[in-house]
Amino acid sequence: MVARIRYRPAMDVTCLGILVADAIARPVETLPAQGSLALVEEISLRGGGCALNTASVLAGLGLGAAVVGKVGADPFGDFLLELLGSRGVDRRGVIVDGAVPTSASVVLVDSAGERTFLHVPGANGRLQREELDPELLFGARALHLAGALVMPELDGEPAAHLLAEARGRGLLTSLDTVWDPTGHWERVLPALPHVDLFAPSLAEGRAISEEREPAAVAAWLRGRGVHTVALKLGADGCYAAGEGFEGLVDAFPVRAVDGTGAGDAFVAGLLYATLAGWPLERAARLANAVGALATTAVGAVEGVPPVAETLAFAGFA
Ligand code: ADP
Repeated sequence: MVARIRYRPAMDVTCLGILVADAIARPVETLPAQGSLALVEEISLRGGGCALNTASVLAGLGLGAAVVGKVGADPFGDFLLELLGSRGVDRRGVIVDGAVPTSASVVLVDSAGERTFLHVPGANGRLQREELDPELLFGARALHLAGALVMPELDGEPAAHLLAEARGRGLLTSLDTVWDPTGHWERVLPALPHVDLFAPSLAEGRAISEEREPAAVAAWLRGRGVHTVALKLGADGCYAAGEGFEGLVDAFPVRAVDGTGAGDAFVAGLLYATLAGWPLERAARLANAVGALATTAVGAVEGVPPVAETLAFAGFA
């Protein structure tokens, strides 16, 4: 008998969303007086933005990860493209647009690790649905929309349509929000019925649902059609609610040095486990482990070791 070959995409996850160049100055205890100069120990350039971070961690865990997003035709854009390439992330879906600057932040970090941002929304805010190549967008096993609420051209109905189409094509759909300083949380609502995995922070979940307790926030989101909810609770782990499991999943104790991107790493762990077919509680534990590891080094991905070590840390080896 001839073995039947089942089609399986080579790519695992496409992360559609925000890419940011972060110029980080540290330590900065107070702003220098207007027109003066202050010395710092270090100014470094790093990649950020949840699509870049989650895709980078997924690639580090050995999955095929791609990014779809936009940068400007400028040195920050070149830097982000090179960084994605060096991390093994497929960047063919990153549009270079000479008419907009690459999204960037100046980040001032004090000696306690508290961060203050100056941010240019730039290219992320200009990504439009019509520019997206369906083959790249829907070419993986999962579509992760990373950075909902800060992509004005996509937020609301366009995002809902993209996720619905992804699901219609058989992809797992996933969503991560960014804190919306404008407070227009209702823009995420059209997407919810088309989302398999939604992992907001508790603060974001509260703002969207206007509920307070994790169980009530999760129930509200599931009532709007989200299949599985994982609320990120920082050093308290997460609250997961979905098929076969609902409850608090404890964090892994670590010596945290930098929380940047922990939430994006958490989502990478959740996607890894979900695509591997793990039950929810186990998936949430791995997500907690990846999030915790991300806090152990400066940067979003540097603290997460290769997959065998990560699984061993989580107690799954
Ligand atoms: P965000 O970066 O979106 O604010 P969190 O700070 O909640 O997200 O972190 C995401 C996840 O990373 C948490 O749900 C938890 O699993 C893990 N995590 C974050 N901070 C710590 C910490 N100090 N100790 C252990 N785990 C942590």
